[in-house]
Amino acid sequence: MLTVEQALEGIWEVTPQLGREEVSLLEAQGRILSQTVTAECDLPPFDNSAVDGYAVLAEDTEGASRQNPKTLRLIGEVMAGQLAEVPLERGTCIRVMTGAPMPPNATAMVMVEDTHLVSPSEVQIHLPVRLKDHIRYRASEMRQGDTVLTGGIPIRSSEIGALARAGCGTVSVYRQPRVAIISTGDELVGIDTPSPPLYGKIRDSNRYALASMVLEAGAQVHSITHIPDDLAATEAAFLHCVESGAEVIVTAGGVSVGDRDYVKPVLEKLGTLEFWRIAMKPGKPLAFGRIADTLFFGLPGNPVSAAVTFELFVRPTLRKMMGIVGSSLLRPTVPVMLTEYVPHTPSRREYVRAIVTPTAQGFTATVTGDQSSSRLSSLLSANALLVIPEDSTGVQAGEQVQALLLT
Ligand code: AMP
Ligand code: MG
Repeated sequence: MLTVEQALEGIWEVTPQLGREEVSLLEAQGRILSQTVTAECDLPPFDNSAVDGYAVLAEDTEGASRQNPKTLRLIGEVMAGQLAEVPLERGTCIRVMTGAPMPPNATAMVMVEDTHLVSPSEVQIHLPVRLKDHIRYRASEMRQGDTVLTGGIPIRSSEIGALARAGCGTVSVYRQPRVAIISTGDELVGIDTPSPPLYGKIRDSNRYALASMVLEAGAQVHSITHIPDDLAATEAAFLHCVESGAEVIVTAGGVSVGDRDYVKPVLEKLGTLEFWRIAMKPGKPLAFGRIADTLFFGLPGNPVSAAVTFELFVRPTLRKMMGIVGSSLLRPTVPVMLTEYVPHTPSRREYVRAIVTPTAQGFTATVTGDQSSSRLSSLLSANALLVIPEDSTGVQAGEQVQALLLT
């Protein structure tokens, strides 16, 4: 059996990176940037005021106080978006709004709160200012041509802002992988059959949960299919996905040693099976392989096993295909303190669903009840997977483990 790390390494050895496409600025939300973005001009592009107030020569305000104000002659005003043309001279000031250009010669701004307008042409200054106070100087953030963003990062609202400021109406992003989802099992019925399911049948939850995880990872759902436990149907479904352009196939169920588990033999017939067992719990039977250029993940059918193996192997692989580099590729891991005893028998590494809460003492973690891999309930409200090491004989309340944060 492979470790989780060995398995992921093996998967990534054959994982392709997808090409790029151009999208409009707002369509780039949530996508992965695939270009370097540079500043189109100096930032800020001109000296401007950081406050609403009066542009002054700093030395004209020396010694000013509320009791002993300095009086300056008001000789003009500059609103945001206007040009500043009138130069300052000793003993004068100019009213300037936040973001408006600084008048020639001005060496500081006095905030309007520290002044009193005595008449239309006279301003009292109540506070001395130093050279450069409250002025945002040209190029103080960056110079024209400096790098603003590099490729491989998810585009969030702050990146949209930076792209807009760089004048990008269109953005180059990586393509999203097209992921086909196939659930397997004669016992499964979809959400379109009468309630409750007939005796012996259960609702197919994986089909929908996996589609949701694909979208949440930032990829595209190519198709959602359910197949019975039947050799010919399995083969036909896999071929159809590959021929219709799926770049990744994710199946759930039928990958173990059951009498009607057909996923592995069909994968071996149509393509290659790279490996199928991983030393982890839940989710030991995980088949990875390829059919032509399509990556193939055969996840176990138990809903928790399917979700955890998707989280550990499929999600990072989809994100790698999308060109993500750096800290956004994998979920962050933090040390957490257990609030209760977590049993474990030394063997496989276990991923325990838990609720992690920030406290003054750091993060604490509480397990989400019974951890059977068939109990979908253990995923509800879980925001982390606790990593219980292979050799652990159980972790006591108050002890620390690593947690993979899922949000
Ligand atoms: P399998 O891996 O096919 O042996 O399935 C393991 C367990 O997971 C069985 O109890 C199945 O009924 C259940 N199961 C498999 N696929 C799904 C699914 N799509 N939705 C809900 N439960 C499933
Ligand atoms: Mg099955």
